[in-house]
Amino acid sequence: MTQLIDTFGRHIDYVRLSVTDRCDLRCVYCMPEGFNDYETPDHWLSFDEIERVIAVFGQLGVSRIRLTGGEPLVRKGVPELASRIAKLDGIDDLSLSTNAVQLNKHADALHNAGVSRINVSLDSLRADRFRAITKGKLEKVIAGLMAAKAAGLSPIKINMVVMKGINDDEVEDMVDFCIEHDFTLRFIETMPMGDTGLEASDRYVNLQDVRQRLEQRFDLIPGVMPGGGPARYVQVSGTEVRIGFITPISQHFCETCNRVRLSAEGTLYMCLGQNDKLELRPLLRHGISDEDLQTAILDAIARKPERHEFNDKPSQIVRFMSMTGG
Ligand code: SAM
Ligand code: SF4
Repeated sequence: MTQLIDTFGRHIDYVRLSVTDRCDLRCVYCMPEGFNDYETPDHWLSFDEIERVIAVFGQLGVSRIRLTGGEPLVRKGVPELASRIAKLDGIDDLSLSTNAVQLNKHADALHNAGVSRINVSLDSLRADRFRAITKGKLEKVIAGLMAAKAAGLSPIKINMVVMKGINDDEVEDMVDFCIEHDFTLRFIETMPMGDTGLEASDRYVNLQDVRQRLEQRFDLIPGVMPGGGPARYVQVSGTEVRIGFITPISQHFCETCNRVRLSAEGTLYMCLGQNDKLELRPLLRHGISDEDLQTAILDAIARKPERHEFNDKPSQIVRFMSMTGG
C-alpha cells in the first residue's frame, strides 16, 4: 500500500480533523475576545466530503483520526460523522478534542459511534479563574468530564495550558484532581498563535521548571504512553496516573511529527507553525477523482516542512489555533 512518508522520512499516519472553526468559549491564548470572523458554513466540508477525504487518507495508510475544532461539539451531528469515519477501512483509532462544555449531552452517543478516547481542555479548577481564562462555566466542563467517564471513554486526558501569573500556581491541584478521577494530565507550553490579545511570551512557562516543582511533592517515574505523540510522560508513583509535558517551545518534537491538519473549510495544513497548505475544497467541488486526490495529497506531504519556527520567527503565524484545528 502507498504510505505517506515525507522528505524527512517521517511517516504520516495521523490526521487532526477540524469540523468547525467556531467555538462556544474564548480561551485567551486561542481566540481574541469578541472574535466572530468565522468561515461561513457553506465553506465547511460537508460530512460526505469529509468522509471521502478521510477514506482516501485511509487508503494512504492513515489509521488515526482526531476530531477537533474550534469546538467540534458546536457542529450538529458530530456523533453521526464519527460513526461514518470509524467504519472506514484502515481507520482504527478515533478520538476527540473538546472543551467539554457540551460533552454531558453527547458522551454516550460519541462512545457508541466509535470514539474511544478524548482530550479535554481544562486550565483551572477555580470557577472564577476558569471564567476569566475561557469566558465559560467550569461546572459544565466538570459535568461533561463525569459523563465521559460514565460513558466509558478512556483514557480521558486533561490538557492544561500553563500560563505565568494566570494558572501556574494550580499545577499541583490539577495533578491531585487527575489522581482522584484517574485522568491523564498533559501540561502544554503557550504557543504564539496569532494576535489573540494574550502576549504569549510574557505568559510563557518552561515546563522543565514545572516538572522540577512537581518532583518536590510527587514521586515521578519516567513512563510511556501508548500511541506516541509529542508529550513526554512520567507516572505518579503509586498511582496509574500519567503526566505528559508538551513542550513545543523549549524542546520541539518536529523530528517525530506524524500528523497533518485538515481545517473545517478543507485546507490541509502540513505544520501547525508554518503556512504550507493544500486547498482540498475546490478540488472536491470540481469533481476530482479519488486517484487524483491521492496524488494531490502525496504531493502536499512532500512539501511538509522540517519544523516549526515559533522560536526563530515568533511573529510569523497569523492563524489562530481554532482556524487550523488544534
Ligand atoms: N476546543 C477544543 C479544546 O479546547 O480542546 C479543541 C480545539 S483547541 C484549539 C485544541 C487545543 O489547543 C486545546 O488543548 C488548547 O488548549 C490548545 N491551544 C489553543 N491555542 C493554544 C496556544 N496558543 N498555545 C498552546 N495551546 C493552545
Ligand atoms: Fe475554543 Fe478550544 Fe480555542 Fe478554547 S482552545 S477557544 S475551547 S477552540
